[in-house]
Amino acid sequence: MKKTDIIVPVFNEEEGLVMFYEETKKAIAGCEGFDFRFIFINDGSSDNTLQVVKTLSEKDPNVKYVSFSRNFGKEAAIFAGLQASAGDYTILMDSDLQHPPALIPEMLKAVEEEGYGAAGAKRKTGFFSRAFVGLNNKLSNVKLQKGATDYMCMSRPFVDAILKLCETQRFSKGLFAWVGFKVKWLDYEQPERAKGSSKWNFGKLFKYATDGITSFSTVPLTLVTCVGAIVCFLAFIYILITLIQTWIFGIDVPGYVTTLVVLLFMGGVIILAIGILGEYIGRIYMESKNRPLYITEETNIKNEKETKKENNGNPEE
Ligand code: UDP
Ligand code: MG
Repeated sequence: MKKTDIIVPVFNEEEGLVMFYEETKKAIAGCEGFDFRFIFINDGSSDNTLQVVKTLSEKDPNVKYVSFSRNFGKEAAIFAGLQASAGDYTILMDSDLQHPPALIPEMLKAVEEEGYGAAGAKRKTGFFSRAFVGLNNKLSNVKLQKGATDYMCMSRPFVDAILKLCETQRFSKGLFAWVGFKVKWLDYEQPERAKGSSKWNFGKLFKYATDGITSFSTVPLTLVTCVGAIVCFLAFIYILITLIQTWIFGIDVPGYVTTLVVLLFMGGVIILAIGILGEYIGRIYMESKNRPLYITEETNIKNEKETKKENNGNPEE
């Protein structure tokens, strides 16, 4: 039997959680040769999510949970889930049924029989998402798959590789691409959220996009240097022109507009450059604190490390 952990980050999902659990159970019922376990990561929900999870775990011994002391964000929840997972395979999925559980058998087939390191789901995406991936792929050596979601089924080596990346500001989609391995992408149509509401807003998305680019690329810094060089060059030419003009025609008093334009333009360029530098410095600052990604308040997983060792010793078990 292959141990398979289904990791589910949950944040205020009391309404849809039982439905998610039941639908997923149905979808995996036909998968023979796999031993499934759910690991819910309660990311500091302020509603009854933890209670719902506990009730599930009382009925089903294969429902495990890790509960954070507050909301640490989905990235931290994903990391906690991967750390808690001890399976041969690890499936990461959302709890709102936007990641159709019906894909699980096909994903497992890809990693188990077809030799892929991981299988992921990809969907048709809108303009902004495509623009972000396009920009990211231009700026960074780590190429993202268009429409890729973090609904993935990973093999043990893939998970171990992800766990070796211990940065605290995590951009999982990028990390999943960074570790490499052969990944099979399955197309799917994303349904509307079953229950509850999405936790994203424009501010969060903007931060996510800048996190994505700054974690894998320093090209913005190089661009700043290029802009600086171009401005210097233009300024030098302009200085020459002005000097020659002054030399031939004498001192010309008007020049108010030119002065103002140059001043404002340079001011803008400098502030932008400092801003981009600041984005990186801020991240260095946060990273240097080396704080844990999350704090666990409660869990029903015991001796996880030992379980993992046993598994590694007897992969056929
Ligand atoms: N989630 C989380 N922590 C957060 C925000 C979201 O664990 O701070 C979980 C959420 O419960 C869900 C998954 O991450 O299971 C995806 O969230 P959501 O559906 O809000 O994102 P979207 O589908 O809109 O990208
Ligand atoms: Mg969703």
